[in-house]
Order: sequence, then structure tokens, then C-alpha cells
Amino acid sequence: MVRCRFAPSPTGNLHVGGVRTALFNWLFAKNQSGNFVLRIEDTDTERSEKKFEDQILTSMKWCGLDWSEGPDIGGPYGPYRQSERVELGIYDRFARELVEKGSAYYAVYHKDDPENVLRTSKEKPTDLSSDETYTIKFKIPEGITEFFDLSKGNMSFENENFGDFVIIKSNGYPTYNFAVVIDDHLMEITHVFRGEDHLTNTPRQIMMYRALGWEHPIFMHIPLILGSDRSPLSKRHGHTSVDHFRSEGYLSVGLMNYLALLGWTVDQEIFDYHEKVKDFVPSDISNKGVVFDYEKLEWINGKHMRLMEPERLLAEFGLWLKYTGRFDYYASVESEPFYALEVISMCREKINTIEQLYDFSLPFFSEEIDYQEEYVVKYLENDWSKDLIAAAIRRFESSDDWSVEGVERVIRDLAEEKITSKKNTFQLLRGGVTGRLVTPGLFETISILGRDRVLNRLENLLE
Ligand code: GLU
Repeated sequence: MVRCRFAPSPTGNLHVGGVRTALFNWLFAKNQSGNFVLRIEDTDTERSEKKFEDQILTSMKWCGLDWSEGPDIGGPYGPYRQSERVELGIYDRFARELVEKGSAYYAVYHKDDPENVLRTSKEKPTDLSSDETYTIKFKIPEGITEFFDLSKGNMSFENENFGDFVIIKSNGYPTYNFAVVIDDHLMEITHVFRGEDHLTNTPRQIMMYRALGWEHPIFMHIPLILGSDRSPLSKRHGHTSVDHFRSEGYLSVGLMNYLALLGWTVDQEIFDYHEKVKDFVPSDISNKGVVFDYEKLEWINGKHMRLMEPERLLAEFGLWLKYTGRFDYYASVESEPFYALEVISMCREKINTIEQLYDFSLPFFSEEIDYQEEYVVKYLENDWSKDLIAAAIRRFESSDDWSVEGVERVIRDLAEEKITSKKNTFQLLRGGVTGRLVTPGLFETISILGRDRVLNRLENLLE
């Protein structure tokens, strides 16, 4: 049975690189009808915070990467939070085993000078002076460490290039390299797909597997996501947290589609990753770094917004409004579902994110029209504007055809009166009912807004 895992450290929000790693593990686990496990690696007590763990779980759920075992739901190999495993003495037990086997030792040092080991022993030190402390260190064996990486092929490292390293810190906590070996083994993880930044940790980990007499999982190191200058993507290049993209109105299906394309050669550009489970083969992951392209992500997101069923988009819109705390707006959208479907179906043609959809939809759901300065100066404050508005009101009042074609006829007839130019006529009306000069199509906008809203708004302009 294939068992993959995602093992984030709760030291910050979930980074897009992390989700991409999680996605590849998830895809492989599902493809193999295996399990996908979530484990929280919180052994760095200074940098780990519960709030980050909560955010990571929330972001993972939003991305749709569900796990069958994890800190929130437990499972047969739990607990799934390393700090809880410390309490159970799990790491201590194996550290002692390594010491007994001669593969690790206690290293005593002055508290202020951890690099300078004063003495080592096979027994737990009992002769410490008040300014001394100790760690447990793994002893690098002689020889070379080789393994096969699914992306990079045969890897070979000379052990002498590594120095003995700490496995249990002076505070009793395990280091990442040690805890990850113990947990991947005890949790029976079969495949570890992770960022290339861990590549030089892998030989260290394999040395420990061997010292403990264990088989190691199959590894694949995924090239990092890069920024425009080809250094690893970080905050310097722009936003990187999943939470940010969610707040900005990206759909998870759009974000995941884009992240899947970062390094995975797949025969389609726009897809829902759930439909790609059957096609996932680790060897299709490229072994070159890939640059994160914010514009491409937005473009892909826009495609998804236009492809999805309007009902689903409306549901996503509602979720986003609540997520960003726009509860009143949510209430007005929800109170007129058929109208809302028409509005978003029209607006989505011109935008790429839900935030842009929100902005574009404002004149349709809010009675307080915010008249743009440019509209007021260029169109409203003209000597012909009142006459034109009055004429438009007369024509709309006597028309009972509010279809797009009916509205178009009214406006074209109005333009024929030649109170001003055709462009001015269109723009005065556009801004008159929306406050803006850029909107979805004018006839459609007026048709969907409907008789009452349109007449009210035009009449208000004459007051
Ligand atoms: N906690 C490690 C990290 O966040 C996990 C690395 C691994 O997958 O082994 O980088």
C-alpha cells in the first residue's frame, strides 16, 4: 500500500511551493489508491506556532487536498504532531538505540559554545558542570551513500563530506533530520516527494535508516519554484502564501491548476486536478526549476471562472464574500439568486479573479452608486446631460421590453435624437446606472439591472 505524506513545519503560512509538494504527494497517493498523511513537524520550538498550524490546515482544506490521517483526525500511526511524539518518548528511544549501536554519542559542550565538543560518551553524562550541557550526535559512517531519486536518477554522496550532526538537542527535542526518519519509518511512508532544498538532507537520513536497520522510502526531490530572477521564490518576489491568493479571489481549482503545471508535464493546460489523478506519473515531473508567473496564474484562474457552472461560481463568490468579511454584500447577493446568477455570468466575461468579480458587480448589488470623478467631469457636468437623461427616462418608461434587444432599440432610438454624440449618449447612460465608464456591455447591463433600478438611478441624477 502506497503511503505518501506532507510534513509542514508550522513556522509560517502555507507557501505555494509547499502546496505544490503536497499536491504531487496527494496525486500519487490517490493514483495508487494509497493514503495521504498530514504530519506537523513542530520540533523547532522557537519558530513553531499553533496559529500557523491552524492556518496550514485551513489552507490545505481550501485547496482540496484531503488527508486520511492527520493531527486533527488522528489515525492508526498517531499522534501526527511531532511535539506530541516527543512527549511519548518515541525519539528518545531510537536515539538511545543508535547510541547503543555505536552510531550516535552524547556530546558535552559549554552552553555558549555548541560547536566545540568538550567530551563524548556512550552514557548519558552525569558529570556536567553548571555551564555545560549535551546533545546526542549521529556519527557519520565511512563510505558513500547512494540512492535512486525518481526525478534526478542515481545520487551518490561521499560520507566524509558530512560532519557528525545533532539528533537530539539539549532541550531534549529531536532535530528535523532525525524525527523525519523515525516518523516516516513508523508511519510506514513508502514515498517521500519533497523540495530539492532537502536533497543534501537525504543522505544523512539514509545513513540513519541504515544504522537502524530499516529500509528507506523512495525519494523524489522536486525542483524549487523560482522568482523572476531565478532565485527560490520568496516574499521578495511578491506574495507567496496560499492564504494571500485566497484573499485575492483566486479559485483553489485555478491555483492548483497553475501549481500542477509548475514542473509537471501534462497534456492539457486548463484542468481540474481531481481529473488528473489517473494520469499522474512521478517521472513526468521535470527536474528543472520553474519560474512562478503571476500573470499566467491570473489568466488560468480567469479561464476557470468562465468555464465553471454559474451556480458553482456563485457558490464560490458567496464563500469568498464571507471569507473576506463582506457579510452585508453576501446577504444582498444571496437574497436574489437568479439575479445574482445573471450578474456574475455577465461580469465574468471580463475579469479573472473573484475580487475583480466583486468589484465589477458592485453597481448591481449596492444601491449607493459611487460616481467616478472622470464620469462626473466628462459626462455628467455637461449642458446636454440633463436633457439626455430626461429623454432616456421617457423612452425607458414607455418601453416594456427589457430584453437586451429591447434595451438596445431604446438606446439606439435615443441616440438618433442627436442630443449629443452616440458615444456621449452611451457613456452618460453607462455611468448613470453604474457610476463607471468601464462595465460589462451597456445593453446587457441595463437589461439585467431591470426597470426599477435603472429608472431610479436615472431619476436620482436629475434631482
Ligand atoms: N518539515 C519539513 C519542511 O517543512 C519537511 C521536509 C520533508 O518533507 O521531509 O521542510
